[in-house]
Amino acid sequence: MDKILVLKGIEKLLETPQNIVITVHTNPDGDAIGSAIALYHFLKKLNHQVKIIAPNHFPDFLAWLPGADEILIFEQDAKTSRTFLEDANLLFCLDFNALIRSGSLQDDLKKLEIPRLLIDHHREPETASFVYCYSDTSVSSTAELIYELIAFYNFEKYVDNAIAQALFTGIMTDTGSFSHSINRPETFEITAKLIRFGLDAVRVHQQVYDTFSESRLRLLGHAISNCMLVFEEYATAVIQLSKDDLQKYNFQIGDTEGVVNYPLSMQKINMAVLVTEKKDTIRFSFRSKGSFSVHELAKNHFNGGGHKNASGGSVKTDMKTAVNQLISVLPDYKEALQNSI
Ligand code: 5GP
Ligand code: MN
Repeated sequence: MDKILVLKGIEKLLETPQNIVITVHTNPDGDAIGSAIALYHFLKKLNHQVKIIAPNHFPDFLAWLPGADEILIFEQDAKTSRTFLEDANLLFCLDFNALIRSGSLQDDLKKLEIPRLLIDHHREPETASFVYCYSDTSVSSTAELIYELIAFYNFEKYVDNAIAQALFTGIMTDTGSFSHSINRPETFEITAKLIRFGLDAVRVHQQVYDTFSESRLRLLGHAISNCMLVFEEYATAVIQLSKDDLQKYNFQIGDTEGVVNYPLSMQKINMAVLVTEKKDTIRFSFRSKGSFSVHELAKNHFNGGGHKNASGGSVKTDMKTAVNQLISVLPDYKEALQNSI
């Protein structure tokens, strides 16, 4: 459906005050939380009752965002979360394309008999689950789509510092500080608007990226020095972090964020993979340069997906088997990996 028609449909649903729940994908990142917080402040200005419910914890480096302290964490407080879900008559799903991506929340969300609205930039949106999908894979981030939604009303009228900081956080984190997904002029036009409004972009960058604990930085050093395998013939580097590695460096949620990007800074490396050991699953984080689609790789072999150059997945097995599974599929992609850029 045409974007304007979707915006008009959403506008109609928001004509009268509603009880709204905003939710995001499991393991929420800067774009998920930034988008949710920007939408939260905007909807409150339109006189709606709004609650953000995240399936699980978000990283500490996002906790300074105004309104982050109001976010309910479903895995920590299912009972309170459910009272908000029961009272809701509208659900916004941000930064994910299918209900399964909401992890522990998915069963509750599937049961809801209220309109579900999707605002997202991932491939293959699960259209049947939503009354409206405001979905565009060409934008850098869901935050850009939240900007477009607010702009449809009147951005200058509604923007405040909380909204500007949240939108910038989403764009900045999903572009790796403006290093990828930045070939669309609108990304910079929106950013310019936020700065013209008075956003202190340097400060936001510092709050997100210059707040490492010592152990987080040492974990990064350990990951690169001791846990990285380089497969030159497949233009691929793989970092594996076991439970022991994470424990040794006092792992906190968010501490591995960004680790996967480092191997891509090597010349002739076109795919980077971070493999981490969680409770009973192995998580994969994929990044690529150029035409190689890690979305396809994640979807075909690792129960996942995402974007062409950034995707994730998981398998229920042990670390060694998971890494071997990855190594065993690399030959199938040899040419595509080598010729990616
Ligand atoms: P990350 O590696 O940062 O966890 O995820 C990279 C991108 O892939 C994000 O846009 C994220 O939403 C998406 N993603 C991560 N894990 C999964 C997954 O298991 N399934 C799908 N469909 N997308 C994922
Ligand atoms: Mn995103």
